[in-house]
Amino acid sequence: MKDQLRSIEAIIAPPPPHMVGDGFRVHSFFPGGRLIDKKRMSPFFLMDYGAKVEFTPSKEPRGVGVHPHRGFETVTIAYHGRIAHHDSAGNSGVIGEGDVQWMTAASGLLHKEYHEETFSKTGGLFQMVQLWVNLPAEYKMTAPKYQEITTGMMGRYSLPANGGTVEVIAGEYNGIKGPASTFTPMHVYNAKMKKGSRAGFNFPSHYNTGLLVIEGQATVNGEKAPADHFVLLKNDGEGINIEASEDAIILILSGEPIDEPIAAYGPFLMNTWKEVEEAIQDVNAGKFGVLED
Ligand code: MN
Repeated sequence: MKDQLRSIEAIIAPPPPHMVGDGFRVHSFFPGGRLIDKKRMSPFFLMDYGAKVEFTPSKEPRGVGVHPHRGFETVTIAYHGRIAHHDSAGNSGVIGEGDVQWMTAASGLLHKEYHEETFSKTGGLFQMVQLWVNLPAEYKMTAPKYQEITTGMMGRYSLPANGGTVEVIAGEYNGIKGPASTFTPMHVYNAKMKKGSRAGFNFPSHYNTGLLVIEGQATVNGEKAPADHFVLLKNDGEGINIEASEDAIILILSGEPIDEPIAAYGPFLMNTWKEVEEAIQDVNAGKFGVLED
């Protein structure tokens, strides 16, 4: 199957948006809909896409209040606007435009996410992605940690003929490595392509693979993928050819599936329902720490 192009399984229009708290207007591409199988994009369990939206100025930062997480990682990518976050492990920070926050919730923490204060006061264009990356059973109860990945830290591969740049967040592209440390093998890139440029990608055929068109539009293995659409690729080959029909930004995800049972409930992503019950009991018993609203 080497050198064989992957077929397109689906090009998915953004599902109707919903609000997460009052700050995040997201289209949930998976799990659900065309990707009803909770393991179809494993190790990526969930993708919430905040397509471009203008927020009016607000004195009170909009966002989502205190909530727990256990059993996975949240990866937040800011394309426009800035996001502030705090957690019960004492970590806090600001995700600036182009930056990524890779939070390993693992054994559990309390978390809140808001528009950053200055951005909130001025308002403006907001666009982001949050991924939930599953953890294998052996790592679900490890200690929480953070990776703050600024644009400047990302690996950068320059496409030929000034065609743009592939920013490598995790994994590797043409020998350029990304800074994120991951628990299972995966590749996460932002391909920032100039109109008319081409780029080729190869991932092992068993790696689940999809692309989100953040900006512009592109042709993926011969099929047109408009802005805000998710391209799901079949596991029947390795190759992906992208041609940017306009200046484009494409989020590329590919990873080795985690072949374990899933028990997902709200902000908990475990292997069994007993573990989900334990997570709820642990939150109620205060074992996830304390975080002021
Ligand atoms: Mn969170």
